[in-house]
Amino acid sequence: MKKQKIKPIIIAGPCAVESSEQIFASIKQARERNIDFMRMCLWKPRTRPGFDGLGQDGIKLLIEAAKAGINPGTEVLVPEQAKFIMDHVLSKVPNAKLLLWIGARNQNHYIQREISRVAASDTRVFLMVKNQPWISEDHWEGIVEHVLAGGISKDHLILCHRGFTPNGINPHGFRNIPDYSMAMRIKKKTGLPMLIDPSHTGGTVPNVMKVTNEATEHDFDGVVVEVHHDPKSALTDIGQQLSWEEFDVLVKTLTKQQADSI
Ligand code: PEP
Ligand code: MN
Repeated sequence: MKKQKIKPIIIAGPCAVESSEQIFASIKQARERNIDFMRMCLWKPRTRPGFDGLGQDGIKLLIEAAKAGINPGTEVLVPEQAKFIMDHVLSKVPNAKLLLWIGARNQNHYIQREISRVAASDTRVFLMVKNQPWISEDHWEGIVEHVLAGGISKDHLILCHRGFTPNGINPHGFRNIPDYSMAMRIKKKTGLPMLIDPSHTGGTVPNVMKVTNEATEHDFDGVVVEVHHDPKSALTDIGQQLSWEEFDVLVKTLTKQQADSI
């Protein structure tokens, strides 16, 4: 008999905040499900210029989610954005929790440390850190050390594996290539929860499902997944948004593995 696992951490929602219609539809779906944080990014790093989020104008939608009992999660690129979200959401909805995260492309360690310092100033805030795009175990460990140096406590820090930029063999055409064993080594060395992001690893709906399935063979603590109320209309990462019905299938895959491991 394997050890009994705790419920997986589930972070789900659209890649980016696009409109009030989108967010109200997402809140409705999220309220019918058991998710810990709803993805709803105000700022999006983009490979090429294009829609890169509503920015500060979208803050009212994070407040609406929090008021509806859905804890918001968003990527922040600089500490000022972290502070802006915390100030606005937590003053209006004091019992909310917030998830802020540092994305894969944000590899300036001064910025990483400062975001951590801002997040650490309020215990209602959790910080998630994704791995960097290029493959390096040393660098990944270094990111964790930098954010810990910023003051976030280990019980408010979560790690996330989103694969590494492909360089050569890629039989399934993944957007990024996972290294599950490395993720497990980082989890063990740091003692921190490790989530899988099948969306930015897989890059297409079938591959999101494939990565989720593969990840259940390892000891991930949960999932960060992109879900859109109308996937075909998404303004960012259109090819990898799941519908909420597809999300339900993904959760069944995860929880089946939980049941099997008891
Ligand atoms: C994201 O989570 O929306 C994102 C941009 O992913 P990554 O930082 O993994 O590229
Ligand atoms: Mn995305």
